[in-house]
Amino acid sequence: MSKRKKLHSKDYVKGIQEGDRTILGRAITLIESNAPEHQQQAQEVLTTIMPLTGNAIRVGITGVPGAGKSTLIETLGLYLVDKDHKVAVLAVDPTSSITGGSILGDKTRMENLSRHPDCFIRPSPSGGALGGVARKTRESMLVCEAAGYDVILVETVGVGQNEIAVRAMVDFFLLLQITGGGDELQGIKKGVIEIADAIFINKADGDNKEKAEVARREFMRAIHYLTPATRGWQPIVATCSALTGEGIKELWQTVLDFRETVGKIGALTDRRSQQAREWMHALLDEHLRRLFLKNPKVQHHLQEYESSVMKGDIPATSAAQKLFALFEKSLERL
Ligand code: GDP
Repeated sequence: MSKRKKLHSKDYVKGIQEGDRTILGRAITLIESNAPEHQQQAQEVLTTIMPLTGNAIRVGITGVPGAGKSTLIETLGLYLVDKDHKVAVLAVDPTSSITGGSILGDKTRMENLSRHPDCFIRPSPSGGALGGVARKTRESMLVCEAAGYDVILVETVGVGQNEIAVRAMVDFFLLLQITGGGDELQGIKKGVIEIADAIFINKADGDNKEKAEVARREFMRAIHYLTPATRGWQPIVATCSALTGEGIKELWQTVLDFRETVGKIGALTDRRSQQAREWMHALLDEHLRRLFLKNPKVQHHLQEYESSVMKGDIPATSAAQKLFALFEKSLERL
């Protein structure tokens, strides 16, 4: 990659606008790079393409490993490209850099979809912390929109805080569920159900059809008592089979109904502007934290305060206050 000719920002912008997949891929690589000069150029490109963004429907998909996410994305993606949509598939999986594996990293996943000219698939960036991975995915999403992709699917694995990060960047959030050993709601974090706009029970085929229906009813009862994730939208619970394609058309119809219903009352625009605001604050937090930890005075005393706190010599609050006072003092001297 380093041997390739360096592109100017205007080359990136032109290529993205023309929907050039190679340039799109390189723009995302630029976004994913941690090198300061790359980050600066990425921001330049993003600022220029901003007016071209925002035209896609953004869908987040979560579920435990094995729930059928990639099978569903393949089936849904092929259904959508057949309807003349352009589909971009992105992923948020901070664990991929630790385990070495990656959701979407495996080439055998979504084989037919990945070969389709109207689909662009990008594995999770290896950004370390969730914050970094989420930022890169969010920015990649914007670049895909500017390149004319009108459906963005963001996949995440149902572990840790990933769902919250993806919920914060999409319009519609789908929880893909499978039937378990009896008590369907056991082991599922209530928090994930709370942020879903739809729960689809996958693998509702063959012998499993009846069990899936039982699970659907159980979920219906469970969500009845929850506050809906999106203003003006009552979450949908349904069954599907990513393998046979049954229920996939209905799933897409749910997304379209959602867009219409929620769009009409302005809740979609509200959500997006809130998301942009929260994102700005998250970036500020990240910058401030980095600045704080880089401060020589803080660096000098951090360990000593850490061990005092660990030993129980001083309360964490006092230690944090003292460290912050050191930081503030050094700023005053500037
Ligand atoms: P992911 O880890 O959530 O991405 O799950 P995969 O898409 O890799 O699917 C895990 C396994 O479940 C694979 O063996 C799939 O073939 C199978 N699978 C996925 N969807 C269905 C379905 O609708 N019905 C059945 N019977 N199997 C499915």
